[in-house]
Amino acid sequence: IFTSCATESNNLALKGLVEIVTAGNFKKAHIIVSPIEHHCVLDAAKHLEKLGVEVTWLSVDRYGLINLKEIEKAIKENTILVSVMYVNNEVGTIEPIKEIGKLIKRINQLRITDHRPPIYFHTDAVQAVQYLDINVNHLGVDFLSLSGHKFHAPKGIGILFKRQGVPLTAQIDGGGQEFGLRAGTENVAYIVAIAKALTLAKRKTKNEKLKVENLRDKLIQGVLQIPGVYLTGHPQKRVPHIASFVVKGVEGESMVLLLDEFGVAASSGSACTSQILKPSHVLTAMGISPQLSHGSLRLSLSSETTEKEVDYVLQVLPKIVKRLRQMAPNWSH
Ligand code: PLP
Repeated sequence: IFTSCATESNNLALKGLVEIVTAGNFKKAHIIVSPIEHHCVLDAAKHLEKLGVEVTWLSVDRYGLINLKEIEKAIKENTILVSVMYVNNEVGTIEPIKEIGKLIKRINQLRITDHRPPIYFHTDAVQAVQYLDINVNHLGVDFLSLSGHKFHAPKGIGILFKRQGVPLTAQIDGGGQEFGLRAGTENVAYIVAIAKALTLAKRKTKNEKLKVENLRDKLIQGVLQIPGVYLTGHPQKRVPHIASFVVKGVEGESMVLLLDEFGVAASSGSACTSQILKPSHVLTAMGISPQLSHGSLRLSLSSETTEKEVDYVLQVLPKIVKRLRQMAPNWSH
């Protein structure tokens, strides 16, 4: 199903599934959601919660990893959906989607034999598409969301994969486009673009992946040389294109602004919410204090990033951090 963006794909998956399975009797349903989802999943789940759906919010460890046993324990008779993102956009941690898929499959086999309704599995794979296996059969997912501009397609096009036979009802009514699940004239040019971009992304070689991984590691090692800087997310189970940190004694927003002056595009907290000066819900769920969270910094790479660019960041960032700390009245090593 082609959509306008991953925000729409995620809203459609969560709301469209719950609406049809409960036939609008929202109090009947229970869903399980990870606490570090992008706001579009988080807020869609909160919206459903307000309508009466029971939501279990999972926890994560200090690296942002979901615990499989916690999912298994949370499952109830009326559970209809589990939604866990493939890769977290703020810290780059890779979640065990294949394992969750296997767990749900095992539980569903029992349910099917007893003629009970199955549990459906949704993953937001927006940050996973470039470097990880997104084969929906390997993952065992029923829904998978993608966003074009995360893999060099234009902004304004997204995809929702829905497995055949899985129930879903449209959230935009009108014509019968997209199997009757998303009305509105198709954006053909962008659909062609996202298909091409996906083909190219999936053609990436191991060497290209390795190149980005090596640049990321160089960047991480260099940034960690600055005193009072810590890596966020899992040290190994992370995607090649995200390096994320917290910087003690510095406001993330000021860091981002100064980096921008030096021609470096970075983000603090979640890129889409950096206007909201609340500590990131992801870092909070990982047990990082609000004070440290305010100094979060995310640097993203792509296959087009060069070693020269990494060297440049490593040259300007220490100076920026030093300057900001000199201005911070309470900073001391
Ligand atoms: N999910 C994740 C993990 C993201 O990183 C983003 C965007 O940054 C989105 C969803 C939202 O995607 P879109 O901008 O296409 O709505």
